[in-house]
Amino acid sequence: MKKLGFGLMRLPLTRPEDQRSVDQGAVNSMTAAFLDRGFTYFDTAYAYHGGVSEGVFKKAVMERYGREAFTIADKMPMWLIKETADYQRIFDEQTARTGAACFDYYLLHALDAGSYAKALETGGFEFVQRLKAEGKIRRAGFSFHDKAPVLDQILTQHPEMEFVQLQINYIDWEDENVQSRACYETARKHGKPVIVMEPVKGGCLASPPAEAEQLLRAQAPAASAASWAIRFAASLDGVLVVLSGMSTMDQLEDNMAILEDPAPLTPEEGEVIRRAAGIIGGQIAVPCTGCGYCVEGCPQRIPIPRYFTFFNDQKRYGLLPSILGSYSLASKGAGKASGCVSCGQCEAHCPQHIPIPGELRKVAAVFES
Ligand code: SF4
Ligand code: SF4
Repeated sequence: MKKLGFGLMRLPLTRPEDQRSVDQGAVNSMTAAFLDRGFTYFDTAYAYHGGVSEGVFKKAVMERYGREAFTIADKMPMWLIKETADYQRIFDEQTARTGAACFDYYLLHALDAGSYAKALETGGFEFVQRLKAEGKIRRAGFSFHDKAPVLDQILTQHPEMEFVQLQINYIDWEDENVQSRACYETARKHGKPVIVMEPVKGGCLASPPAEAEQLLRAQAPAASAASWAIRFAASLDGVLVVLSGMSTMDQLEDNMAILEDPAPLTPEEGEVIRRAAGIIGGQIAVPCTGCGYCVEGCPQRIPIPRYFTFFNDQKRYGLLPSILGSYSLASKGAGKASGCVSCGQCEAHCPQHIPIPGELRKVAAVFES
């Protein structure tokens, strides 16, 4: 299998403020180009794009290609599980939304210490094994957002899980919270193949600060910044596929060119990446990847990831009028950062464990004073 996976979570939109307004025509063209070049792996989830990603996949791929032409991964949203019966109800919805009789890869979505405890209590691991026995999924695994010892515990107690999806990129590699390297080494110690998510850290590594960009360009003038990030992830042993959430045909073309025949990083390139990581890491105010899991359910309708993007932009470029203007535009039809009532609803869903209300207070201090 070619190593690029098409993440169906940052699809082109017809209205940027509405995650459900996916441009089906553009997705049809992108998925066709992807399959034409011999790539096969698609990754969706119940929650992506406000719940429409699975249906977009059905129209773009399932209804237009033979089942043998592609591989599909889907995920059980662990944060929506309240009782054992929820697994079957949600899985039935997923098969209806995607039209898939069988998922090639099926994941418990976003396990951490808390959701692991819930999966144990509600029978999540037994549920996926039953799906496998019934031929409704081919391989069972989970995506993971916590520290390496928690991953070690899960894989020790559940050796039947066949693969792990991890957040791996060169700025999170040694990050204390994400622990990309330690988690990767833990998965490999247990002999599990790894699916990489967030290789470009929500797009952040595709447009790094000028100083880091110059460093990368000096080493390889023709290579895009994103290509460094993708090659970093793809160079690791045991990586099955590198997921990329692509929003444009250009991004897709760039990623396909990189992973058509990926060149492993040389030691010299590894050193360049290490230096670039130091520069980039120092310029991120909030480590938000823009996944959007926090947004639904906010009683104040605060577009949290958009505000964090503006906040990171002002740290990098200064408080430019254009950034202030973007904040003011985004906050017109939605809640302002200062409107956060600290209910904590969002924090429970953030895979990056960002203290969202506290960060929003900082956003408000910058943009609303
Ligand atoms: S803590 Fe603030 S941002 Fe988060 S859901 Fe509550 S009101 Fe919304
Ligand atoms: S704050 Fe957390 S949950 Fe919300 S978009 Fe950012 S990373 Fe995702």
